[in-house]
Amino acid sequence: MREPLLKSINPRSLLGDRAVWPGDKEYDSRRRVWNGMHDRRPALVARCSNAEEVSAILRWARSEGLAVSVRGGGHNVAGTAVADDAVVIDLALMNSVDVDPVSMVAVAGGGALLRDLDAATTMHGLACPAGVVSHTGLGGLTLGGGYGWLARKWGLTCDHLTAAAVVLPDGAIVEASPAEHQDLFWALRGGGGNFGVVTRFTLRLRNVGPVVHQSGVYALASADEALVAYAGFAGRQELDLHTVGALKIAGNHEWIPERLRGEPALFLTAGWFGSECDGADAIAPLFRSAPPDGRLDQVLSYAALQALGDHSEPAGHRYFTKSCYLGDISGAAATALVNAGRAITSPMSSIDFEFLRGAIAEVPDAGSAFPNRGAPYIVTASAQWTNADEDATHTRWSRQTIDSLGPWQYGGAYVNYVQDAGHQSAADLYGQRRYRRLAAAKARYDPENILRHNQNIPPVTT
Ligand code: FAD
Repeated sequence: MREPLLKSINPRSLLGDRAVWPGDKEYDSRRRVWNGMHDRRPALVARCSNAEEVSAILRWARSEGLAVSVRGGGHNVAGTAVADDAVVIDLALMNSVDVDPVSMVAVAGGGALLRDLDAATTMHGLACPAGVVSHTGLGGLTLGGGYGWLARKWGLTCDHLTAAAVVLPDGAIVEASPAEHQDLFWALRGGGGNFGVVTRFTLRLRNVGPVVHQSGVYALASADEALVAYAGFAGRQELDLHTVGALKIAGNHEWIPERLRGEPALFLTAGWFGSECDGADAIAPLFRSAPPDGRLDQVLSYAALQALGDHSEPAGHRYFTKSCYLGDISGAAATALVNAGRAITSPMSSIDFEFLRGAIAEVPDAGSAFPNRGAPYIVTASAQWTNADEDATHTRWSRQTIDSLGPWQYGGAYVNYVQDAGHQSAADLYGQRRYRRLAAAKARYDPENILRHNQNIPPVTT
């Protein structure tokens, strides 16, 4: 354990104008998070640039009796990065990423975004499996798990974490790895931001090349059948293939037939991460068994693939997300999904689903805090709109969509997609045994629950 270098001091003398207070010119922009539903007024936004500053601010906040929240990329749907009257430890300035292409390792700052990581790795033909929208924060994503295009082939982002520098709530700076603070290292991989502020992530990298990327669009009238065909294909697909689907309003793209534009439709999309010349053959059986009304066929760089979703989820819109795992997506489950797609209340909303398993399920279940590794599908009802008067309509649709899938739910949910804390408690997400182990780690590393603005796991000593 390294002793903090800086003693606890006033944030103003430590950070200068990087300490942003109510009334400062930057206050409103610095307290904003991605989801426009959250309008919180913190006591201070502390824009730290290294672990020692984080340590000093944590100790100052404790001495003042102030609550603390941690901001990585500010993307969490529940807006946990910012809390009323709390000190926000904002890590945005700590966004550097260094890559060693020989050992295939990236060292990323605690506030890096996925685009920072991808920019640094893809120039070497490398990538760390991570999420699909490039303005998402690496911090929250990794600590909660990290699903993405490469997850079936290689596993989650947290499965690629090999070490982390962590500032504990008491200000101590420690290293967590398979060799040091093993219980902390276990908890960080899935347990979220409960245990400390991670200022450095060391991540294992993988080789990536061009991606064969194909989509099919289906009128809702044939969507049930297409989903049944997808379910038949998904479980047999090769590990190099990742398939995702969505029910949403079809846009004005050339490859989408005019009669479908502006209507709710089903989209099935495949990304092939093996040798480029084998991609078309691997994907063909999907679209043979479910012939689409329109089809897109392209080859993309991995970096371009990662940015494909960037414009459809802009910061500042209002969002509500509810998600669950599903055991099955065919038969009556397909009908329930299509009905929810038909009932969609906003042209910007979507129901997104994907087949998981593969490498995610091969990582030993007890090896990390991440739960539900065997889940076949994940489904997310993502409501998006701009007018606050419509909040009730769109949140109701999202909740009803997931509730309508009750009979086919696999159990649990993905911690990073939980906005409805009252409905999906941390104990439900993790299961009792894992939750108890997390609560014990919390008791060891954050016994006073200083870091409680997150999907909170209160400390329990047994
Ligand atoms: P923030 O809102 O900054 O932080 C959320 C919480 O994480 C904080 O309250 C804190 O507890 C903790 N935290 C963040 N950084 C640190 C740190 N360095 N140290 C300690 N605690 C920290 N998830 C996927 O798995 N796959 C996807 O493809 C995916 N796509 C997404 C696309 C969009 C548009 C959005 C909005 C979200 C997506 N997510 C995805 C969910 C994403 O994983 C979570 O929103 C995650 O919390 C984002 O991390 P962040 O750092 O931006 O969050």
